[in-house]
Amino acid sequence: MKLVIASQNPGKRQEFQTFLTGLGVECLLPSADFNLPVDLPNESGKSFAQNAEIKARLVFNQTQYPTVADDSGLVVSALGGFPGVISARWLAGSDRQRNEGLLKKLAGSADRTAEFMCVLCLVTPKNAKAYFFTGSLKGTIAQTRKGVAGFGYDSIFIPQGEIKTLAELGENYKNKYSHRIVALKKLSLFLSENMID
Ligand code: IMP
Repeated sequence: MKLVIASQNPGKRQEFQTFLTGLGVECLLPSADFNLPVDLPNESGKSFAQNAEIKARLVFNQTQYPTVADDSGLVVSALGGFPGVISARWLAGSDRQRNEGLLKKLAGSADRTAEFMCVLCLVTPKNAKAYFFTGSLKGTIAQTRKGVAGFGYDSIFIPQGEIKTLAELGENYKNKYSHRIVALKKLSLFLSENMID
């Protein structure tokens, strides 16, 4: 089956493709494969699920193929879930500046629990129904930045049961346990049980 990835990012298509190849799923991009000038909206929803659904529906309406979109971010307990859906943009500047900003906000806080969340929304041609698949990775926010691998908040996030940050643990660890992989596994199971003959 063909599955459209509602993203402009070829890296994201590759990530889905690597995961779903075994199922015989061909992942397509709106711009490269449909020549659609898809202008994905600025993520305006109040939740990861809303943002993912907005993107998935927009692209589904133009392609009519099963379409999946994702939204993800970091949720910090002591900050009431902040930065959540605005993880990428609550502070203008670099990932490093956002990491340092977050460490400042948490300075002196005994509660450093946090969670990476990922929500995938799949919109299917049958009645344009939306299905949601959620993944999370629980952990804590470190006292200082450590490690060089990855992106975003990897250098300040220590997964539960580990003593190193994601940026120290590296790609192999994330490819097994990340919030995105957990959600992708659920999507993969759903596709194999419901959409593939
Ligand atoms: P997006 O929804 O995948 O674009 O992610 C939104 C933002 O959440 C990113 O720009 C990062 O700041 C943060 N984020 C999401 N996933 C990760 C991750 O695996 N590691 C570190 N930061 C992440």
